[in-house]
Formats: sequence, structure tokens, C-alpha cells
Amino acid sequence: MERLDRFMARANAAYYAGPDPLAGFTTAPEISQVFGEVLGAWAAVAWQAMGSPTDAVLVEAGPGRGTLMADALRVLRRAAPSLAGNVHLVETSPSLRARQALAVAHATWHDRLETVPTGPLVLLANEFLDALPIRQCVRRGDGWVERHVASGAFVEVPCPAPPTVDAPDDGIVEWSEAARDLVHRVAGRVVAQGGVALFIDYGPERSAPGDSLQALRGGEAVDPLADPGSADLTAHVDIEALAGVARLAGATVQGPVPQGAFLARLGLFERSRALASNVPPPRAGALMEAAQRLAEPHLMGRLFKVTAVCHPALPSLSGFAA
Ligand code: SAH
Repeated sequence: MERLDRFMARANAAYYAGPDPLAGFTTAPEISQVFGEVLGAWAAVAWQAMGSPTDAVLVEAGPGRGTLMADALRVLRRAAPSLAGNVHLVETSPSLRARQALAVAHATWHDRLETVPTGPLVLLANEFLDALPIRQCVRRGDGWVERHVASGAFVEVPCPAPPTVDAPDDGIVEWSEAARDLVHRVAGRVVAQGGVALFIDYGPERSAPGDSLQALRGGEAVDPLADPGSADLTAHVDIEALAGVARLAGATVQGPVPQGAFLARLGLFERSRALASNVPPPRAGALMEAAQRLAEPHLMGRLFKVTAVCHPALPSLSGFAA
């Protein structure tokens, strides 16, 4: 028997160590090159707002195939060359590290954020927090039980009340100690050394009870408990709770704002149109369709939210103000 978060950590470590863990997935940077380009432009402006520190480090957590960073660097090499020359990728999967090395020529890899050199931080993380392990408790009358996993099924073990929201009878509360810990460390670093961390994740704007654990194998939803290591396990990110963790550490939080509004303010459509005007019609149409997929509220535009954890001296950053 294993607590759910330990099961999820082990299953995902095995899954991401596999030969092509992202086959069948289409994350935002894989939909359009403009996603990474506008985030690169955002990073340059944020870096300027920090006073253009030459010792700043550019970090991506969970870079997947390296597409976002490769696209962002095309912009950053011109707009913020010193930042573009100091790239650090936090990635535990050996197969994805190899993949990232093909996309990003000059970078240093890390298992954890702690080994990234000191200096003001510009951190990007798209769909990273949702891969971190969660715990789940279920309310049973006046008490609570915590979900463990044994032989592909849940086993309930009595436990104290969970630290976040309440739930009705038989309702499920989930939280991620790993995500809370990461945001706590990022916020502490940003407060002490300066900088900003941008998180893009799916999840509701406010903490709410409910079971959001899901497993995808080759793009298909499968049983999260069956055959650990064969599917990608994710859960909704509790943005409100994580923003609270960041504020407690002394950071300020900008957002969350819906991904669609954020990208539109950063010029997603203008940049896509400019690219489209220089290519044959089928490719031009695909570029505009990709922009819509990223930004339309009924597609990815509303479900995904953008949140920045900032040094308190930073002004309102682009994309966050209407
Ligand atoms: N950001 C990418 C990929 C998201 S998938 C994109 O948008 O396409 C999640 C990524 O986080 C993968 O690269 C995975 O290997 C990495 N990852 C998962 N758990 C991790 C952990 N605990 N530490 C570091 N990286 C992790």
C-alpha cells in the first residue's frame, strides 16, 4: 500500500523516463511557435523591469521537448542577450533532456531548482505543476480518510482534516505538497535575489473540492491506478492555494489571468498574422487557427491560467493589466 502522492511520483518518474513520454500530447508550445516567441518577449520586458541585471538566470521548469525555450530564445537573443546566454533547464527525465538538447544548444540541466546559480530569476513553467504528485482526502461524516493505492485500487486510511478547503460528505479534497514546496522555494528565491516566475497551468481560479486526477496514454484517458508508469498522471493546479503560499513567503502575485487574454495582450494575433503574411495559404491558415486554439475561451484560452510570482518591487507586468 502506498500513499497516492508517492504512487503518483513513482508512476510519473517511470513514465517520463520512457522513450517518448510526450507522444500524443499537444501542449501550447507545440501548437504554435508564437506561444514561445511572445513568452520570450514577455521575459525580455520583465527582465528590463528588473533593471536589466546582467547576472540574471533564465530558467524553465519541465521543458518537455524544449520547444518553448527554443522559440523564446529566438526573441531573447536580440532583446536580452545576457539573459539568453544563461539558460538553465530543470528536468528529471533523461530522455526528455536528450530531446531538449536538440532544441536548445547552450543550456545547463538540473534535477532541482536548488542547483541553479544565484542571481535574479526569470522562470517559465508551462504545464509543469500539474505533473507534481497530489494527496487526496475524502470526507466521511465527521472524519476524513486519505487515499492510498494497493493493487490498482484505492484504500482509505483515517487521517486528520486536510490543510486546504473543506468538502461535503463523500467529497474529495486534493493538494500537492510538491507544488506548494516548489512555489515556496521559488517565492523565497525571488524575494531574496529578485526576479519573477511565470506559471501557466490548468485549473479553477478558486480552490474547490473535487477529484481531478487523470491519466493520459497516447492522448487517451485511462485508469490512473492501472499499470503505473504507462500513462501521464496529472491533476488540476490549485492556483489560489499556491498564490497564498507565494504571498506567505513575501512575494507578490500577479494574475491569475486567462491564457487567452494574456496571449492576446502580448500580441499573439499580430505576430501570427505577420508570420502568416509571408507563407503560402495552407501554412498561413494553420498559424491563425493555432492562435485561436491557444486563445479562444472554449478551447485553451480560459481553462489555462497565467500567474506570476514576483519580487515585491516589480511593477505590473505586461499581459496582466487589462
Ligand atoms: N512544459 C512542456 C512539458 C510539460 S510535461 C510543454 O509545455 O510542452 C511536464 C514536464 O515536466 C516534462 O518535461 C517532465 O519530464 C517534467 N517533470 C515532471 N516532473 C518533474 C519533476 N519532479 N522535476 C523536474 N521535471 C519534472
